[in-house]
Amino acid sequence: MEECRRELTIYGKKIIEKGLAAGPGGNISAREGDYVFLSPSGFFLDEIGSDEWVKVHLETGRIYGQARPTCEISMHLGIYLAREDVKAVVHTHPPLAVGMVSAGARLKPLFPDFVALLGRDVPVIDYVQPGSQEMRRRVVKSLGKGNVVLMKNHGSVCVGETLKEAFARSWLLEETARSVLAGNMVGKIKYLSLKEIEGLENMEAEDYRKTLLKKK
Ligand SMILES: [Zn+2]
Repeated sequence: MEECRRELTIYGKKIIEKGLAAGPGGNISAREGDYVFLSPSGFFLDEIGSDEWVKVHLETGRIYGQARPTCEISMHLGIYLAREDVKAVVHTHPPLAVGMVSAGARLKPLFPDFVALLGRDVPVIDYVQPGSQEMRRRVVKSLGKGNVVLMKNHGSVCVGETLKEAFARSWLLEETARSVLAGNMVGKIKYLSLKEIEGLENMEAEDYRKTLLKKK
């Protein structure tokens, strides 16, 4: 059996455990060779067995087996076709981060891990119909060479060279939202300055930690 199936099952469980999706919400995928393995439509992410991930040929779109893949399949395939380096896509519905961006807020560098995993800025796009070609187009465009996109009134899309990396990004987005909300409750948040961000970007120790996320 393909190696990534086992991993998808592990990270599907983690997504629900961390509260990043509710019910059958969210969908994830991984690329192995010429194929992409996606969550089946309508399943809770923590209830998908290794043999239930839906195998799809990336170039032709041919679907193997009887199960129907997530309705957001087009977005997943669009990302893989645009980005050779991406091996995993994690789309979740993180409640705090989605609430914040839907109210017009942006998530900004608040602590070192934000800079290390998410970069300097997280692009936000307006609501688009889930599963539509428009969603695929907007997400692929906003993602560009980056790793994260937040969609108002919907969720986040995080990519990585491994599922571990894409999952870590998804989790950290929600943790950032949690810290921002905590900070706003007691006072005014001071975000990292440009100088502090540059300092982190040039840190060798961060490079080492980032490499570990790319290992399975
Ligand atoms: Zn969704």
